Amino acid sequence: KRAAYAELRDVEPFTRCGTRIQVQMNAGLRDDMSALQLTGADGIGLFRTEFQFLVSATMPRREKQTRLYRDVLDVAGDKPVIFRTVDIGGDKSVPYLRSQNGASGDENPALGWRALRLALERDGLLKVQARALLEAAAGRSLNVMFPMVSEPWEFDAAKAIFDDQAEFLRQRKSQLPEQIRFGAMLEVPALAEVLDQLAPRLSFLSIGTNDLTQFLFAADRSDPRLAERYDWINPPILRFLNRVVQSLVGHTIDLGVCGEMGGRRLEAIALLGLGITRLSITPAAVGPIKELVRKIDLTELKPAMQGWLAAPPENMRSELTAWASEHGI
Ligand code: PEP
Ligand code: MG
Repeated sequence: KRAAYAELRDVEPFTRCGTRIQVQMNAGLRDDMSALQLTGADGIGLFRTEFQFLVSATMPRREKQTRLYRDVLDVAGDKPVIFRTVDIGGDKSVPYLRSQNGASGDENPALGWRALRLALERDGLLKVQARALLEAAAGRSLNVMFPMVSEPWEFDAAKAIFDDQAEFLRQRKSQLPEQIRFGAMLEVPALAEVLDQLAPRLSFLSIGTNDLTQFLFAADRSDPRLAERYDWINPPILRFLNRVVQSLVGHTIDLGVCGEMGGRRLEAIALLGLGITRLSITPAAVGPIKELVRKIDLTELKPAMQGWLAAPPENMRSELTAWASEHGI
């Protein structure tokens, strides 16, 4: 099987009906980057920059951040990399960043002072990261993604920090990136209700199904007792994602999914059926998902999915399993 996936490395993932699906991989450390070449993924759809912070005892200095981002871009070459700004706080806490009042533990870490919420308040952190990313991408393309955006103004505020840093570098006559694209993660359900307002400002949107489903079901993603309880292939999640896809029709926005859901066989079929054309997944899943994409005919799958959404079968997972085997997938 492994050899078969290796053969797929240079094969582009087109569906049977001719739609090119972007199969990208998630990464977080320098060492992860070797998988890009090995798997033949279409770039890094999610680079979790907080990993460098989590493995460090002190705040990584700007030079160190720049070096990492530059190395990542060097390895990626012509393939795109989406850098997600730090998603720390909550359960990914680091000792050198505590909340103002000195409290170290939030009562509900996932719902707490984390990600962009923390980064906008401790804006020194985001300024440094913005400078590091802009300098690392000098003369190249830079894709920046903000995590846990809950309201559109948070995206604007974070982007303004990058704009300020870019202006500073411009005045200093430093080389800037050739192109800068900004995007957001959709992880907080509330954001889905105002996508019409936010979408025109975004180049891309990436659905983080790990956090999104935790919030939709009010079920802690790190609690092993709940890990199997709510199926990703069920009407609430799929109807929610369907509405997100529909609400973006007519916008020129690059929509993808970067949660673990996209790396699972049946879940990936469901996402493709909803009209998602970009998946960023764990490297080990790239081969299997490419193989799967090549067996899919969206002209058959999409109407079937709309049927299941309109009148959900008793068990969505078994319905999808049956459909897959009927279609030789
Ligand atoms: C997600 O929430 O789905 C996601 C991709 O981000 P993380 O897993 O890093 O929270
Ligand atoms: Mg997340």
